[in-house]
Amino acid sequence: MTTSRPRETALQLRAERVIPGGMYGHNVRKFLWPDAPQFWARASGYRIWDVDGNEYVDLMCSWGPIILGHHHPAVEEAVERQRRQQDTANGPGDVFVELAELLVASVSHAHWCVLAKNGGDVTTLALTVARAATGRSTVLVARGAYHGSLPWCSSRTAGVTPGDRAHIDYFDYNDLSSVQAAAHRADGDLAAVILTPHKHDAGSDQEPVRPEFAKGLRTLCDTAGAALILDEVRTGFRVAYGSSWQTMGIEPDLSCWSKAIANGYPISALLGSEHLREAAKAVSIGGTFWTSAVPMAAAVATLRTLRIEDGPARMADTGQQVVDGLRAAAEQHGVLVRLSGPACMPYLAFDDDTGYHKAKLWSAAMADGGVYVNPSHNWFISTALDHVAVERIVHAADTAFATVADAS
Ligand code: PMP
Repeated sequence: MTTSRPRETALQLRAERVIPGGMYGHNVRKFLWPDAPQFWARASGYRIWDVDGNEYVDLMCSWGPIILGHHHPAVEEAVERQRRQQDTANGPGDVFVELAELLVASVSHAHWCVLAKNGGDVTTLALTVARAATGRSTVLVARGAYHGSLPWCSSRTAGVTPGDRAHIDYFDYNDLSSVQAAAHRADGDLAAVILTPHKHDAGSDQEPVRPEFAKGLRTLCDTAGAALILDEVRTGFRVAYGSSWQTMGIEPDLSCWSKAIANGYPISALLGSEHLREAAKAVSIGGTFWTSAVPMAAAVATLRTLRIEDGPARMADTGQQVVDGLRAAAEQHGVLVRLSGPACMPYLAFDDDTGYHKAKLWSAAMADGGVYVNPSHNWFISTALDHVAVERIVHAADTAFATVADAS
């Protein structure tokens, strides 16, 4: 199926001339297998087609944004309606307030909302609001966590100055004593702690948050007068409708949302508790496209549809079918794998797999079998996946695990 890729090859050659490295972000070659597609032509429901016309079941969902399936009719209708009225105008229109009300009503700790474009916009803004509120500078970040591609948190350090990270210190996820030690080092200057609802760093097994750790963090922030920031950019509205920590009853002061909230349209949100409203009013907020109305209309339609269809429960159920099917297929071929994380965003890793060699071989074989996954990043389940798609995934996995077993 993937033997010939003339369009892909031609695009790569052109891209290398005009784009640094030919590609950036998630799609760079080193994160993929040798002949993985990097360019995409179209998408519908759970199906995607590369530029050479090969079809795949989409298990990456555009790295999280697609939650109802590509081109969901309810979202597209809302988008078309809004587009006919206005998108980037002198101001946003009533949908701005409607979405802010919906988000504030859906996330228990939230009393106010700021809308932006990317996840990194709102994780960065969360730090700024916390610093404005406390008059302090130090922010604690979990070692290895991803909060965006900005100088304070990017995964690469070329071009980043020591000053960019002068007030960032690190702790280990789920290790309260490491947070306490970092808070002690902050010496009265602690503005905030930022973390994801569970550990989902790329390239490593996912880990649920330990409830004692989450409770300990809440107490530590209260005692220190610092803000607790929950980065829900990847988990948001997939793991739960509302805060991923709501079942534990632990509330952050600020939470960051993006990816799935508008089924692929570019928008992010910072939600905050009442006591940080004045700080949010004081800081500089804005971006030319932050008030564009079309992504807001997409978000309202996406969130309403997720609520009506009980999206998170459906994704948990479908994800579990995928996880169970993959476990059984791996076992049948005697391949040792670990599947971690919530079933709606599973991560598959192979035992004894230096350099993701087996994971890349397996992902390439999955692509040959018509399923698109990534070897070193968690995948994403959408509500569009049905039993036919699950069967296709498990069928492709059977052949792909055989390929890995044969090569071992
Ligand atoms: N936080 C988390 C947890 C993320 O997964 C990401 C994106 N992968 C970001 C922040 C940054 O979002 P964006 O790429 O939209 O800036």
